Amino acid sequence: MAYNKRIKNDVKRLAGAHSSLILAKHFVPFSTALTYYGRKMELPKFKYYPDPIATGVFEKSDDICECCSKAKGYIYTSSFYTAQDVKSICPWCIADGSAATKYNGSFSDDYPLIKEGVDLAVVFEVCERTPGYPSWQQEIWQVHCGTACEFHGDAEKEDLECLAGDELDTFLTKEMVDPEVWPKIIQHYEKGGQPSVYKFKCTECQEIVFYMDYT
Ligand SMILES: [Zn+2]
Ligand SMILES: [Zn+2]
Repeated sequence: MAYNKRIKNDVKRLAGAHSSLILAKHFVPFSTALTYYGRKMELPKFKYYPDPIATGVFEKSDDICECCSKAKGYIYTSSFYTAQDVKSICPWCIADGSAATKYNGSFSDDYPLIKEGVDLAVVFEVCERTPGYPSWQQEIWQVHCGTACEFHGDAEKEDLECLAGDELDTFLTKEMVDPEVWPKIIQHYEKGGQPSVYKFKCTECQEIVFYMDYT
């Protein structure tokens, strides 16, 4: 209630402002004001995607979600596999599964998870109720301890520099990278560049799992 009052007062104050200069300086677009002051707009939590803001998969936007027909303040920016033409989906319609159901779509490929024997309930949660991640090729959601990992975005350069010993050997073997080429890859590595290295974390044993992707 107090918040709504505040918006009303803001609008009143703005309506009374005479100088357009003042307006330009202090004007908060009404939709933004609603997002910030009017509603509790905490983003939904995703078990397998803990920080979607940091990875940029949700962006602030006034666009209307095609699924719920509301402008919730955030729009999903990554892949959605569906036969239908869908451009804007909000995080809430991903989290509650309504976008996947409505458009008979998925945000990630379920095959890599099913192939590893991941519990089907987890497969559905990752593919139908979790944002996807942008990748050069078909993304492969990583599996550890028999279940889906959390996605943590592009690896930091320091993450890769710290890889050593058995951990590095396992990674290079898995990604079929020549150990002699690896220092060069690290040297030129940039987040979002070529190749991309994505960081996952096991939800059971907390081990960090890297996955490399090229065009
Ligand atoms: Zn929505
Ligand atoms: Zn594990």
